[in-house]
Amino acid sequence: MKHTKPRLDISSFAEGIFAGDRVILGQAITLIESNLESDQPDAAALLEKVLPKTGRSLRIGVTGVPGVGKSTFIESFGKYLVNNGKKLAVLTIDPSSPLTKGSILGDKTRMDELSKHPSAFVRPSSSATATGGVAHKTREAMLLCEAAGYDVIIIETLGVGQSEIAVSNMVDFFLLLMLAGAGDELQGMKKGIMEVADALVITKADGNNLKNAVEAQGVFQQALHLFPVPESGWHPTVLLSSAITGSGIEEIWNVITKHNEHTTSTGYLLKNRGRQNIAWFQDRFMQLLNIDLQQFGEIRNFQKKLEAEVSSSALSSQAAAKQLLDAYHDALKRKS
Ligand code: GDP
Repeated sequence: MKHTKPRLDISSFAEGIFAGDRVILGQAITLIESNLESDQPDAAALLEKVLPKTGRSLRIGVTGVPGVGKSTFIESFGKYLVNNGKKLAVLTIDPSSPLTKGSILGDKTRMDELSKHPSAFVRPSSSATATGGVAHKTREAMLLCEAAGYDVIIIETLGVGQSEIAVSNMVDFFLLLMLAGAGDELQGMKKGIMEVADALVITKADGNNLKNAVEAQGVFQQALHLFPVPESGWHPTVLLSSAITGSGIEEIWNVITKHNEHTTSTGYLLKNRGRQNIAWFQDRFMQLLNIDLQQFGEIRNFQKKLEAEVSSSALSSQAAAKQLLDAYHDALKRKS
């Protein structure tokens, strides 16, 4: 596929990003999201170029089941931040249905007012690729936003599938939105996510629902006591919010700020980011290794054969992995 317009060169991309040009930032994210083989060198060069300007934002992950009120919450919370002088970028992961290739979020207008604010940048990034793919592109988009000078980056993910765990591994603060009452059992299945949350927010704490929300707050706070204290030493709290009355928004920001002060003073913030960087590096290396392995036609075929044998339990996973590695080594030797 050819580009209709000549694309900016890497330096112009970087300059535009550093100058906070939202149009150029958007185009740069499109470039790094591209799956075209021919775009990869430029995407990699751009990331290298912006890297020294990254790392200065507060990274917040927001998740919760569809309908819990994520976009409404981010709209209120985001407006609170920009009205208090912050620059905010919101990246939305929309795990489009692989069946329809359609977007779960549809054409619903999300964060309409926020996206019009000059200090906000809202980017829905739809991707039908595997979870790893989503996480990989989102992390890179986040780095571009940081280079563009956004103080706070929110990564929103739908509470379906595995993407939220991937997101929790790329942020400093992970916020889980929950509904009071209905479907607590179902939400209870998300224990793994509760364990990595730095705060829980019961949404829609207004009107007739307020009483239920207060009750749920107590129940979830009790439940959190049963988990071991996380390595950060931070005790997760349960908060209430209402996008209608606006209650809770400021308190949530105060908790996030407190968490940031806590993890900065203990050194956990940098330690955690360092660990995330290592995980990212390892992840990238495994990807490159896999791409390298796939260059050999005979290895691809052998891998398929092993997969069939593993699938029918004719061969153990361990033995198959070892055989594949040996075959890869042999192929490399033959090549050299
Ligand atoms: P998402 O799918 O998690 O992004 O949820 P939405 O933000 O689209 O909200 C789902 C529905 O809940 C919408 O009809 C909202 O109007 C409603 N909603 C969201 N926040 C609140 C709230 O604080 N109070 C009340 N009463 N309704 C809300």
